Amino acid sequence: MNITRHGDPCPLCRTPLLVDVYQVRSSESAFVQREVLNARRCPGCQTTRPEQWSEAMRARYKDD
Ligand SMILES: [Zn+2]
Repeated sequence: MNITRHGDPCPLCRTPLLVDVYQVRSSESAFVQREVLNARRCPGCQTTRPEQWSEAMRARYKDD
């Protein structure tokens, strides 16, 4: 199931980032077995300054 939660502050505007996460649960229990991070988003910055945004994300999360 896909959920969205708040993550670290945005490096550009300090608003908490929206983090899209896919949670894998086993059928017999409600426990989350695994999480896959799909995306980090800041709707404001992605709209108003997309280039700065991708730069900041690259600099901050090199391993993604
Ligand atoms: Zn932002």
